[in-house]
Amino acid sequence: MPTPCELTVDLDALNRNVALAAELAGGRTVLVAVKADAYGHGLVRVASSIQDAGSAQWLGVATVAEAVTLRTAGISLPILKFSVTLREELAAALAASVAFTVADTRGIAELAEAAAEAAVIAEVHLNLDTGMRRIGARPEDAVALARQITDQQWLRFGGIYTHLPVSDTPEGTDFTRQQFRMLAGAARAVEEVAGPVPHIHAANSGAILSHDLQDTTMVRPGIMVYGSRPDPATPVRRAPEAVDRWTSRLSFIKQVRAGETVGYGRTWTASCDTWIGTVAVGYGDGYSRLLSNRGRVLVDGRSAPIVGRVCMDQTMIDLGAEAPSVNVGDEVVLLGRSGSEEITVEELAGLMGTITYEVTCLISPRVPRRYVGGGARSRN
Ligand SMILES: *Cc1c(COP(=O)(O)O)cnc(C)c1O
Repeated sequence: MPTPCELTVDLDALNRNVALAAELAGGRTVLVAVKADAYGHGLVRVASSIQDAGSAQWLGVATVAEAVTLRTAGISLPILKFSVTLREELAAALAASVAFTVADTRGIAELAEAAAEAAVIAEVHLNLDTGMRRIGARPEDAVALARQITDQQWLRFGGIYTHLPVSDTPEGTDFTRQQFRMLAGAARAVEEVAGPVPHIHAANSGAILSHDLQDTTMVRPGIMVYGSRPDPATPVRRAPEAVDRWTSRLSFIKQVRAGETVGYGRTWTASCDTWIGTVAVGYGDGYSRLLSNRGRVLVDGRSAPIVGRVCMDQTMIDLGAEAPSVNVGDEVVLLGRSGSEEITVEELAGLMGTITYEVTCLISPRVPRRYVGGGARSRN
């Protein structure tokens, strides 16, 4: 069904960003985070395109439902579930053959029991807390937990990993380095008792873009694959390329007289006679109301400010005092390029006072995702 508002995802650009992560990772295994509907880009299409391109070897999800969706769609790449799994979720997660994250004795015991019951081998990655304080075991407990895992016939020890809270800021460099060292120390101790650890991993996009990855063997990029840097203020070795183009259309154009106000709350007053366009997008589409009177859109290569409050389904823009050359039905760019102008995810995030991750996660299911590129290509 044709709709005025849509998000176009360039799967070739996305796979080039995966390739960039692989290059910066210097031959390490690449796991792409596709949680939260691939950061709003469409879980199945993004995962299929990565699998077809052969650009990454693993995928990462947050929930069992995401893993089930991927398996149902025919995704066969190994999937790591980043979060701990509740007892009542274990059977479904085992059926989707996820690699599990465990972080304590209880979690390992519950998983071993469920795996035995299902009579399937479960791959386990031990999460260590080296500074995030979200989930994870203390590094000094790694050896005991690894022993508990390798003692279980239905569990296979697949890896050891940690997460980095400040890998994207220069002030976080020392802390992040220290985290890498703690992980390496724990991994060495585990290898002494449990043999080689298949995957040792820590790096998110921030670390891949600006850190020495030390003794790790796998990386876990997310945001850079979707075209943004984790912190736009931090210099990076190489920048990922944009993959998103979010567009809508002009639904109405009229002249507003000097002194008249526009929108809910009457927060914007025309200082002179001007032409106002109405755009078919609103916060119901995930176009944040925080952009009211602050954001801008691109119409025919020119910037037009948002005037008044963003409504649920419609947003007004100032097209200027001259009779506009654009018409109802013309494209309006909310994110992406038009002529020589570009609105980036970083720009929207800055205006909203949030991070790039949230901007695309917020684009609601009402906005159809369209895809360009992404044909199968050879492994590189
Ligand atoms: C989301 C996530 C990532 C990816 O992080 P980015 O900052 O998007 O690169 C990596 N590891 C874990 C455990 C995550 O939850």
